Amino acid sequence: MTFTNPIEGGTILQDTVVPEGEPWSAKLAAGDVLRLVDLEGQQAVDFLCYSFDDLADRYNAANTIKLNGNIYLGQGAALWSVRARKLMTIIEDTCGFHDTIYGCCSVEVDDVRFGKNNGNGCQGNFERELTKHGLDQKDIVANVNFFMRVPVAESGAIGIVPGISKPGDYVSLRAEQDVLAVLSNCPECLNNAAGFKPTPIRAIIYST
Ligand SMILES: [Zn+2]
Repeated sequence: MTFTNPIEGGTILQDTVVPEGEPWSAKLAAGDVLRLVDLEGQQAVDFLCYSFDDLADRYNAANTIKLNGNIYLGQGAALWSVRARKLMTIIEDTCGFHDTIYGCCSVEVDDVRFGKNNGNGCQGNFERELTKHGLDQKDIVANVNFFMRVPVAESGAIGIVPGISKPGDYVSLRAEQDVLAVLSNCPECLNNAAGFKPTPIRAIIYST
């Protein structure tokens, strides 16, 4: 699949296809842009973000919801930290809805919900990937789910609806400070978070 650089004047620093079910991470300098491309559509991408200078100051779902005033993320929304600093801002989004409340899948939760599991989950992926950066399971917080839609009914009931992302949809995030970005390309086959069939995504880092 060819893909032209849409970031005006930008240079591609890294361009990685992340296979289905696998984690990925990278450091971004302030001003760099991370574009996540849902190559085949309907693929959930579980995402965490940490201030690189102070890894304890990391993505915080509640602050992100209250400071954006919305439980969904879209163009213009920011990912806010524990200390209410902007970590990243969504500068492009062809999908429209990204989840902040559902957290990640795990073999343990799958066992409870489905009586079986995939042998892997985003929780395990995060634990594995974070060890590369001196972090561990205590550093995993409620994550963003890009390309995943979790509507909330008036009663408070929630559910996962089929992903609305189409093949080639993307979301681009500008780093507002030096950050560590960590993702799990969701391996869940037991619900429609990944359309029951996890697929690869592409992670591109631009220097602008
Ligand atoms: Zn998952």
